Amino acid sequence: MKKHNFNAGPSMLPREVIEKTSQAVLDLNESGLSLMEISHRSKDFQAVIDEAVSLFKEILNIPAGYSVLFLGGGASLEFCMIPYNFLNKKAAYLNTGAWAKKAMKEAKIFGEVVELASSADANYTYLPKGYTIPTDADYLHITTNNTIYGTEVRTDIDSPIPLVADMSSDIFSRPIDVSKYACIYGGAQKNVAPAGLTFVIIKEDALGKVNRAIPSMLDYKTHISKSSMFNTPPVLPIYTAMLNLRWIKANGGVAGMEKRAIAKSELLYREIDRNPLFTGTVKKEDRSRMNICFVMDEAYKDLEASFLQFATERGMVGVKGHRSVGGFRASCYNALPIESVQALVDCMQEFEKINAKK
Ligand SMILES: *Cc1c(COP(=O)(O)O)cnc(C)c1O
Repeated sequence: MKKHNFNAGPSMLPREVIEKTSQAVLDLNESGLSLMEISHRSKDFQAVIDEAVSLFKEILNIPAGYSVLFLGGGASLEFCMIPYNFLNKKAAYLNTGAWAKKAMKEAKIFGEVVELASSADANYTYLPKGYTIPTDADYLHITTNNTIYGTEVRTDIDSPIPLVADMSSDIFSRPIDVSKYACIYGGAQKNVAPAGLTFVIIKEDALGKVNRAIPSMLDYKTHISKSSMFNTPPVLPIYTAMLNLRWIKANGGVAGMEKRAIAKSELLYREIDRNPLFTGTVKKEDRSRMNICFVMDEAYKDLEASFLQFATERGMVGVKGHRSVGGFRASCYNALPIESVQALVDCMQEFEKINAKK
């Protein structure tokens, strides 16, 4: 049976990217050697990381003065590296969900953390608005897409202080104005590559403003000065990232990805809003295009397990909601074709025909 992969992360990658990665695992560039058994300092791999960095900059239109780093440790290590490198006295955080909270927890080790605004009062089903950014904080940290709760900030906000963004689950899904950010980071396993790779886009002159000593591996300057080769970088995911960036470029770049994301998310939200059996969990204006969360309507609450089984039998994968929201979550990252969203919509309509109360 054809599978429709709505996994939240690690998640779907274009099939051709996976196939080409497999070829390189067996034999890189007809060298008779696997990608996994060559030096990261070899000519063959240097060409890979150079192309990946250069595509990253080209596709996101990253201005001069910024570095792109490929590191390990996941977005979770960045939760600590950000304050290590940027927080002198005080930082402001927008609390929009579980990941934002984890980022705040690490920052508190380094200084004062101001929770600028929070939507915890409604289980993070909306984005807080109308807050004032304190000009005496060292930076403002936001999470642009809240993977668990399905809210998303799609405007590059104007901040009077350096802006730092966790873009783990929406990078490359829309054009961004990188010049508004001091740092953008994320785990690559949602929309870029297999697990094991962390991307960091960093404005070089935003660094060097803290007074503490920073261990080499946690100091962004180390990685900038060594072009992500201070130690052995995650070779295989970087290779896949390079292939996936080629795929994004060939499919219209971030403008093309945004068009696809709009078409897919509108198709699914329209069905959620039309179908009496289902209800969206997020305030409409704050809905994510990447992670679409919905539950059974009050009148059909007892059918949750039954719909999950129904959908699974029809090839849907990964649609069970996160435990902190319940219900369902369809992650519609770049690689997911609109046909898969249509298949899920068909499934919801079929289920409605069988189960709708008259
Ligand atoms: C998945 C995710 C993380 C955690 O990423 P790791 O690479 O597993 O550390 C952090 N932030 C957001 C928004 C995520 O979606």
